[in-house]
Amino acid sequence: SGFGYASLERQRQRLPVYKYRKAILYLVERHATTIVVGETGSGKSTQIPQYLKEAGWADGGRLIGCTQPRRLAVQMVASRVAEEAGVKLGEEVGYTIRFEDQKNPGMTMIKFLTDGVLIREMMEDPLLTKYSVIMVDEAHERSISTDILLGLLKKIQRRRPELRLIISSATIEARSMSTFFNIRRKNSSLGSSDDLPKMEPAILSVEGKGYTVEIHYVEEPVSDYLQAAVNTVLLIHEKEPPGDILVFLTGQDDIDAAVKLLNEEIQHLGRHYLDLVILPLYSGLPRGDQDLIFAPTSKGKRKVVLSTNIAETSLTLEGVVYVVDSGFSKQKCYNPISDIESLVVAPISKASARQRAGRAGRVRPGKCFRLYTEEYYLNEMQSEGIPEMQRSNLVSCIIQLKALGIDNILGFDWPASPSPEAMIRALEVLFSLGILDEDAKLTVPIGFQVAEIPLDPMISKMILSANDFGCSDEILTIASFLSVQSVWVSVRGVKKEFDEAKLRFAAAEGDHVTFLNIYKGFHQSGKSSQWCYKNFLNYQALKKVVDIRGQLLRIVKGFGMPLKSCDRDMQV
Ligand code: ADP
Repeated sequence: SGFGYASLERQRQRLPVYKYRKAILYLVERHATTIVVGETGSGKSTQIPQYLKEAGWADGGRLIGCTQPRRLAVQMVASRVAEEAGVKLGEEVGYTIRFEDQKNPGMTMIKFLTDGVLIREMMEDPLLTKYSVIMVDEAHERSISTDILLGLLKKIQRRRPELRLIISSATIEARSMSTFFNIRRKNSSLGSSDDLPKMEPAILSVEGKGYTVEIHYVEEPVSDYLQAAVNTVLLIHEKEPPGDILVFLTGQDDIDAAVKLLNEEIQHLGRHYLDLVILPLYSGLPRGDQDLIFAPTSKGKRKVVLSTNIAETSLTLEGVVYVVDSGFSKQKCYNPISDIESLVVAPISKASARQRAGRAGRVRPGKCFRLYTEEYYLNEMQSEGIPEMQRSNLVSCIIQLKALGIDNILGFDWPASPSPEAMIRALEVLFSLGILDEDAKLTVPIGFQVAEIPLDPMISKMILSANDFGCSDEILTIASFLSVQSVWVSVRGVKKEFDEAKLRFAAAEGDHVTFLNIYKGFHQSGKSSQWCYKNFLNYQALKKVVDIRGQLLRIVKGFGMPLKSCDRDMQV
C-alpha cells in the first residue's frame, strides 16, 4: 500500500545515517576502503547498501554485498531492506546463508550473506569479481570469519584496487583498522592512478542520537541470574512508566527457562501482569516469531524480549526503554591441549556491558539494570572481549585458507594473530585426518573434497570415509541432522506423551541411529506435517534436513562417490 511505503520512507530519513548519505557515497567513490563507525541502530546495515544501489553501484549486473557474522541477522536485515525497497525478498534484495539461498542471479543487486559464505564464494571466484562493493558489518565483534575475511579482502584489494570495501562497526578502534587496510599500491602502471581510488582508508563517524541511560546495579552478587532477571522484569512493570524491556540472557535453554518462569509468575500474580507480551529471541527462531519481535507493541501492552547477545549490536529493537543485563553471554572457548572447543557461559566485557545499556536509550532516556555489583563492573570485568580467533579451534580456518591457495598460514596478514599452540594443534589434527600432507598441503582428493563440503571438517571426513564401511547413505542423513538445531518440539505440560514419542524412535546405539529412525519414519509418512505433529517433531526442521541432505548429496555425487546403504529397506 502507498501509505505503508510513504511511512517507511519517512522512517528511513529519520535515521542518523541519512544525514551522511552524500558523505558516505563521496568517500566510497574516492577511497578503496571506508570505515564507518556509528552507534547500533543508526542505520548502517539497512541504509548504506540501499544508498549504494541508488548511486549506481549495482548497475551493469554488479553486486553490492553486505556480510554479517550471524545467520539470523542476515535474514532479518535482508527482509527489512526488501520491505523498505518495496521488493520481494530474493529478487533485487537477496540473501545467502549456509544451506539457504534466497537470491536470483539475474536480478539481485543487494545481497546479504554471512562472512563464512563470502569466504566460500572465493573458492569459485577468488577475486570476487561479481561484487563492486563489499560491506563488512559488525566488524567490532571480531568473529573468526570476519577476521579471516578482512585478511582475504585486503589481499583481493591489491589485485583489484577498484573493489570498494566498507567496514562498519559500532565501536571499532577505527585507527587500527585503518592501519590494517592502508595498502601500498604495488603496480601503479595498471592504469592512470586518477581512475583508481585512494588506498588510504577514510574514516567516518556517524553521530547517533542516543539518550542518556541511568545505570542501576545490584547491591549484592546474585546467585541465580535467571530468577533475578525475572524479578527485575516484574519490578520494572510494577514501578516504571510504559516502555519495552530487553533482557540479555545467554542462549536458547536459558531463555526458554526464563520465559517459563515469567509465565508462571504472571499466572500467579494475576491481572495487571497480563499486559506483558513475552518474546524470546535467539537464532533458530521460526520465521513467524522473528516478525513478532519487530511488531510495534499495542496500546496498554508492554513487550519483554528475552534475547541472546544478538540484540547487543546486530539487531535494534525500537521501543526499548529498559534493559536487564545478566552480565553473561555464551562464548566460544578452545583448549588446544585437549583440542576441545565448547560454548560456555562466560562473563561479558565492559565494552559489551556499555553496548547493552545503550539499547535502552533509543527512543527516550532509559534505564539499565545490571545484575552484578558496581564493584564487580569497575574492578573485575575485562575491558574488551578477546577476538574469537584467539579462542577457537583453527581446523576449518586453515582448510579454507589452504583451499584458497594461501600456503604460508603463519605469514597470513591476520587482524589478530592466533596462538601458536592452537595453530600447531590444528595442523596436527589435519595431518592425522589425512587432509594435509607432510608439506602441509591439502591432499588430493580428500583434502580438497573436505574443503568443498560446508560442514565441520571432522564430519566431512566422516562422510568421505563412509563408503569404506558401506554406509554413506546413512552417514549423509546423520550429518544433515547434525546441521539443524533440534528436530524435537517440546510442548509444555505433556511431558509423558513427549517422552513416549521420543521412545518410539530411540535406538540402543544412541542419538545418531535415532536420527535414522526419524528420517525413515518421515519418509514413510510421505513427509507429512500431521505425522510430525503427532510425534512431537518439528516439521520445518525435518524439511530442512531433507533439503540439506539433497545439497550434500549433490556435492558428493560431484566427487563421483556412489551412495551405499547398509539398510535394505532404505533405498530412497
Ligand atoms: P545499524 O546497522 O546502524 O545498527 P540498522 O540499519 O540495523 O542499524 O537499523 C536501522 C533501523 O532499522 C533501526 O531503527 C531498526 O529498528 C530498524 N530495523 C532493522 N531491521 C528491522 C526489521 N527486520 N524490522 C523492523 N525494523 C528493523
